[in-house]
Amino acid sequence: MDFILRFNRALAQRRHEEIIDDHVDINEQPMLKSPLIMEKQMAVIYTRKIFYKFQKDLWKCLACVLQLAREDDNLCFYKVMERKKDGSFKLKVQEVMVDKVADYASCICKKFEFEGILCRSSLCKDAENISPNINNPSVK
Ligand SMILES: [Zn+2]
Repeated sequence: MDFILRFNRALAQRRHEEIIDDHVDINEQPMLKSPLIMEKQMAVIYTRKIFYKFQKDLWKCLACVLQLAREDDNLCFYKVMERKKDGSFKLKVQEVMVDKVADYASCICKKFEFEGILCRSSLCKDAENISPNINNPSVK
């Protein structure tokens, strides 16, 4: 009986938290950090908590450098390196596979597959379209 009582209280608490989250999502606009159209679109699509996770990766993708590793008729593989604040690169290199036929990108970290949020490496590939010079280290 004690378990059922505790379970019901926990369930009621969870429902209450969801109602508060829904209220915030419906009535408040998230703070945007950039003029990027993608950020505005995701602010509408995602819930507040998920949007801020996405926004963090969107912001950090601007510090990533994309290099084409290999390519065939259907697939491109890119190495994505992230810059640290001192300008050097982090040791961890991500790999993004782009299916040119299906117009689909997948990062080796599988964040999108597990969490439904694009990671900074996948966003880095799209950031090429947002600002062509931003990820090209040869352009100052
Ligand atoms: Zn990734």
